Amino acid sequence: MIYCDYAATTPMHQCAIDAWVDNAHLLNPGSQYALGRQARRVLEQSREKIAQLVDAEPIEVIFTGSGTESDNIALEGLYDPTRPVLASPIEHPAIKEKLESWNNVEYWDVDTHGRVIIDADKDSQAACATLMLANNETGAIQPVEQLCAWAEEKNIPVHVDAVQALGHIPVSFHDLGATTMAASAHKFGGPRGMGLLFAQRNPALKPLLYGGGQERKIRPGTVDVASAAATAAALEYSCAHMKEEAARIASLRDMLRQKILSSIDNVIIHTPEDNALPGHLYISFCGAEGDSLLMLFDAANIACSTGSACASGVNRASHVLLAQGISEADARSAIRFTLGHANTQEDIEHIAAVLPGIIATARRAGMA
Ligand code: PLP
Repeated sequence: MIYCDYAATTPMHQCAIDAWVDNAHLLNPGSQYALGRQARRVLEQSREKIAQLVDAEPIEVIFTGSGTESDNIALEGLYDPTRPVLASPIEHPAIKEKLESWNNVEYWDVDTHGRVIIDADKDSQAACATLMLANNETGAIQPVEQLCAWAEEKNIPVHVDAVQALGHIPVSFHDLGATTMAASAHKFGGPRGMGLLFAQRNPALKPLLYGGGQERKIRPGTVDVASAAATAAALEYSCAHMKEEAARIASLRDMLRQKILSSIDNVIIHTPEDNALPGHLYISFCGAEGDSLLMLFDAANIACSTGSACASGVNRASHVLLAQGISEADARSAIRFTLGHANTQEDIEHIAAVLPGIIATARRAGMA
């Protein structure tokens, strides 16, 4: 199987598996006796390592259960029901669905490259603003620093969803100037089921969950120390190898883009050529249904995705592509390849070799 769905999840790095196994025996880090202190030591060392790698203070690092949970805790914590939230229309469902449940949202526009347009002259009474650092479908890096500078002048707290970015491009929590920032270990070679929330000391977040006093009461519940250690190990590895891995993966992605453009007609590339995550290639094969393509790639032992959320088995056009002006039919023809550490040039050559047959078959079947 050629795995090209690294934006969905990444296989764990060996160092993360080792860190997890080495610490799986540890007990409750909240306990006062020696066994508890032993677990607490590993937890705090993991927190310190993550803080150092992301340019945050250790107290600003909160362990959660997923990127989704980090996003929800942050938004709920910054929300004020009497005022709107300012957001982009291309957010991941972890943000999008939460905002839609409130029904009081203002949106920035998006350009045709999938980049959010921050209007520096905009006035706003928003309780908070939220923007992803890199889009999970297109890989387009978003103007988060611009948003934070605009929001600082107006004293509006900002939440940044950095789930796709952390471990793949340099991220400094302090330089961004965000109030809160979400990340997820399984997107950078760590374990599934471990999220990170970076949260400045002020303003205090209104709690989403109630319980014990763990994680500054922002995320009460006994912390999974083995996963925290594995997350720190995965992030350390990803940051140490970031530069050469990003260059290697981007060159494989560019090779795939080139091979597609030279062999298939009527395609639309949605991933911008500059200022995008290195492994993303999101592309519409017009006239073919994304779901059919996915099945045909799967039958050819290639794992990729349509990039859009599937509801009740119906292939919906991606809200991200619709927001950047792509037609409904072309949006439904989109396939997302996201490359990562195990991909090789042979993988790209194999995909390029089987691609024309797959596209022709799907186009013959037409749109549903
Ligand atoms: N935010 C973005 C941008 C994502 O890509 C994802 C996952 O794909 C999430 C949030 C949710 O992360 P998790 O799967 O850890 O809940």
